Amino acid sequence: MPLTVHQFPCLSDNYGFLVRDEATGKTACIDTPETAAILRELETLGWELDMILNTHWHPDHAGGNADIKAVTGCTIVGPQEVTRIAPLDREVGQGDVVELGETRFRVLDTGGHTLGHVSFVDDADRIAFVGDTLFALGCGRLFEGTAEQMWESLQQLAALPDDTTVYCAHEYTASNARFALSVDESQALKDRAAQIFAAREKGEWTVPTTIGLEKATNPFLRAPALAAKVGAAGAPDHQAFAAVREAKDNFKG
Ligand code: ZN
Ligand code: FE
Repeated sequence: MPLTVHQFPCLSDNYGFLVRDEATGKTACIDTPETAAILRELETLGWELDMILNTHWHPDHAGGNADIKAVTGCTIVGPQEVTRIAPLDREVGQGDVVELGETRFRVLDTGGHTLGHVSFVDDADRIAFVGDTLFALGCGRLFEGTAEQMWESLQQLAALPDDTTVYCAHEYTASNARFALSVDESQALKDRAAQIFAAREKGEWTVPTTIGLEKATNPFLRAPALAAKVGAAGAPDHQAFAAVREAKDNFKG
């Protein structure tokens, strides 16, 4: 039985996700960006929350843990770093499995944006929740980790099947597209960027994306092919990635 994903906007540019294992009705939310929005969506859907899955410790991802647990009595699962700001019932890391009814989420260590950032992958349904590691045409800023660590994290995600649906935690795609066009002249990117600008004009969401689409057009995953364009010709892949990341950090689009 499949996993149903319900997506909704939170704060200024976050997405909240409620997921339900259809075999059992067990329900989880991915991160806790905005308590009121999450409780309202649960009420509207008539779902009862069993679990919070945190990707990393940042307040727009774990800030609602305590309040949502107080209201729903759910359990909270996430990487150890979350305890810096919020309660956690179970610490998870690379290779752990979290069961939500019949759905199994495999935990990937995707550190780099923060040191302990994790992603949750439902292989059976080809769904991945990647927090602030991979964005549509972008990737998370390196607040705590190194470029080498982030590159390894992105490679783990890139190794998932192309038709994996990727739920990223922010709607940053239009500004990511403006940067991407500055370092990549491929037709695939131009076509996608045009679609993105048109969608955002109409207020449509550009999340979720897929692994296949990101491998084809995301300048961070394509860093080795774009190395010359960012002054890193001949450099190892993670250094090409670092150069793309630095170009993005300095980009005034
Ligand atoms: Zn973050
Ligand atoms: Fe975030």
